[in-house]
Amino acid sequence: MLPFLDLQPTYAASREAIDTALARVAASGWFILGKELEAFEAQWAAYCGSRHAVGLGNGLDALHLGLLALGVGEGDEVIVPANTYIATWLAVSQCGATPVPVEPDPRTYNLDPARIAAAVTPRTRAILPVHLYGQPADMDAIGAIARQHGLKLLDDCAQAHGARWNGRIVGSLADASAWSFYPGKNLGAMGDGGGLTTDDAAVAERVRVLRNYGSRVKYHNEVKGLNSRLDEMQAAVLSAKLPQLDTLTTERRRIAARLLDGLAGAPVGLPHVPAQAEPAWHLFVIRHPDRDRLQRALAEEGVGTLIHYPVPPHRQPAYAELGLGEGRFPITEAIHREVLSLPLWPGMTDAQVDTVIDAVRRHA
Ligand SMILES: *Cc1c(COP(=O)(O)O)cnc(C)c1O
Repeated sequence: MLPFLDLQPTYAASREAIDTALARVAASGWFILGKELEAFEAQWAAYCGSRHAVGLGNGLDALHLGLLALGVGEGDEVIVPANTYIATWLAVSQCGATPVPVEPDPRTYNLDPARIAAAVTPRTRAILPVHLYGQPADMDAIGAIARQHGLKLLDDCAQAHGARWNGRIVGSLADASAWSFYPGKNLGAMGDGGGLTTDDAAVAERVRVLRNYGSRVKYHNEVKGLNSRLDEMQAAVLSAKLPQLDTLTTERRRIAARLLDGLAGAPVGLPHVPAQAEPAWHLFVIRHPDRDRLQRALAEEGVGTLIHYPVPPHRQPAYAELGLGEGRFPITEAIHREVLSLPLWPGMTDAQVDTVIDAVRRHA
């Protein structure tokens, strides 16, 4: 059996540091808004080449609070990828704004800069690209469009810890960047976690107030905030794991290179990496016209796979209100019909990678 994801080797890589951190927090008796959070925020800001980092409860809240802090509100429109995980859209809806989907570049699966301008209206307030699967979006082109139209730029970095675009690290390429530290992400906590990075002190301060009931001083509430704080246990775990992140990303890149090499010439669509991109390889996603059959055949061989994602946001009952029927976003819909994510996790042996390659080659 080859599981789709095994987090044990990642734990093993930082086990002593994690266990020490957990015991330290338990003994401290201080669990919310303390020095573990402050320390992780400083480390994460430095890692992302950003002036500020704010620890939050999860990635969805990071997107939501980031949009609020950039001034997105009731009646606004935000340009989002049609092809993304639904959290990207939900964050826009939670601000009282409307997500306006734009089709991806069919090679990279990321927001197609050439299609953004046509979606801009007088109500557009921001662009929200996603670095899907850990492949960085074209932040040069998207940033230029944002500046040209006077729009804010927030990127969804939930799958892209350590990815680079044109040599610059993701997390410092927008007005603000939203992170998830969900356990399965490239830097994962042992529970829920999220964060925002930004160079803008006012945006960071607004998010700090919003995450804590809209309060700067205890029992004085300036705005209607949320409760969304990265707790001390999770902050300590993330600080313990951060020193290994680059090593683990290098390992992901090595496994991805082996998969690309081994699957070259097979009748499947392989990930396309633009020359400017250094992906974080959160997922290794192939395409096949008979995806469901291929997934079943791999399962019978004991190779675990997943689909990211089976139903696009515009076809979810949650977004029936937008009235976006089948066929409105054909590139996105074809992607959802055909993609299949193969196992890729730090600690996979060459033999395990070769098992995946061999099974795909025989069944594709
Ligand atoms: C995981 C993820 C999120 C949400 O993060 P949570 O921490 O689970 O709330 C948002 N966007 C994308 C692209 C994700 O992969």
